Amino acid sequence: MNGNTESKIHQSGLGTKELITYFREKCKICGHHRIMHDEKGICEGVMNKPCNSGCEGFVVE
Ligand SMILES: [Zn+2]
Ligand SMILES: [Zn+2]
Repeated sequence: MNGNTESKIHQSGLGTKELITYFREKCKICGHHRIMHDEKGICEGVMNKPCNSGCEGFVVE
């Protein structure tokens, strides 16, 4: 983990455990794991299956 990522996590107010739990969950909108989403919350799809949902599902619950 580089310093930039670490500072982002710190700013988000989420701990590592919360982040891991969060990204392991599937997105309710497109059904992919949230780790597939880019930093803007847009789904980038999985492997050779692009997801065109345009999902903006990164909502801190
Ligand atoms: Zn998706
Ligand atoms: Zn999604």
